[in-house]
Amino acid sequence: MNRLPIVLALLVVIGTVAYMSLGGKSGLRKAIFAQAMPVTYFEPYNARPASLEQISGPVYAFTYGFCRSMVIDTPEGLAVFDTFDSEFVTALSDELAAQFPGKTVKWVIYSHNHLDHVRGSAGLGPEEVIGHRLVNQFVADWPKAISDFAPVSRTVEGDVTISLGGIEVDFLYMPHSHSATLYGFHVREADVVFAPDMMFVRAMPPFDFPDFYYPGYVRALDRLIALDAAHYVPSHLDAGTRRDLMDFRDMTARFHETVRSELAENDYHAADGAAMRRGLQAAYDKLEPEYGDWHGFNEMFVPKFGRHWGGVYLGY
Ligand SMILES: [Zn+2]
Repeated sequence: MNRLPIVLALLVVIGTVAYMSLGGKSGLRKAIFAQAMPVTYFEPYNARPASLEQISGPVYAFTYGFCRSMVIDTPEGLAVFDTFDSEFVTALSDELAAQFPGKTVKWVIYSHNHLDHVRGSAGLGPEEVIGHRLVNQFVADWPKAISDFAPVSRTVEGDVTISLGGIEVDFLYMPHSHSATLYGFHVREADVVFAPDMMFVRAMPPFDFPDFYYPGYVRALDRLIALDAAHYVPSHLDAGTRRDLMDFRDMTARFHETVRSELAENDYHAADGAAMRRGLQAAYDKLEPEYGDWHGFNEMFVPKFGRHWGGVYLGY
């Protein structure tokens, strides 16, 4: 028996009752808005316990909740890449004390200025803090949003190789990608790449992480892929491999190109609500069969669509 007509009729009845009881059009809008923010995107990761994993040689990855930092164990002390927040730092400190008794954190390195990567750093008491020359200036713009920040004491600019206790780390500057200060890192002797905000394993980035320039971002991903390293460490969500990074790069380009082609149908006139609705529907129908099972596909589809629709229109 085909139950579809019955289900549809029931949905219409329920919908009508809800519509009326919620106060008509404005009530319905309120009800939709009340459900608009996803509660299934961050939650599976927020509950994740602390874990320190050896990736290769002296290089470790510390994962806690939604975030992951890279740690290098050098003869002169520990190096921590990105600190995220004070709760993360507390969990990290406990783990480092257990794994490397008596060793202190000599260096903190910031991948970029975004506050979600640099909070909590003062709690590690590093001797030296390394980051792009503009990091302090950007952080100073947000005095109310951050309190436990250790300022950069050794600034870098462009590509540079730095020896941390005898272990060379290539700092790969990614201009016009995600923020103005973004670095990827390659520890050549262990063949590990740390890919902060540049690698999401079978997942859509949260709200398409604002503050990125699409062409430069894809160039950054391609640069990391071209290193052909044995190990890749992402700063958020699941761990993965170079193949996952390549898949993420392809999804990013596929999504962008799909939205661009929908906007092209409207001669790049983006300020057109009806065209946006048509474009959204068409893009969803094209992308859902390929990426519908990726984490956050439905939760993040609308903001990601809007980001790329606007991005193609403006050129960013
Ligand atoms: Zn970021």
